[in-house]
Amino acid sequence: MLPGSAKIGRWQPVSGGRHAFDSAARSAEPGLVVKALCGVEVSTDELQRIASEIAWIRETTCIACWQVLASRQ
Ligand SMILES: [Zn+2]
Repeated sequence: MLPGSAKIGRWQPVSGGRHAFDSAARSAEPGLVVKALCGVEVSTDELQRIASEIAWIRETTCIACWQVLASRQ
């Protein structure tokens, strides 16, 4: 594991943007609703789906999530 990686959210494109999620959210049970770092609620079904390459390109990075991550550095 990389140093400090527990604090680093992982980006995932979901409907409405590319948000960052903590590992706890990413490993939550299917059928739950979890929050991205910015507070947007996303179903774990969508979060844990393998995103298509086009989704990575199409969805724009969430600035609020980016700011949360930047503040943790
Ligand atoms: Zn976000």
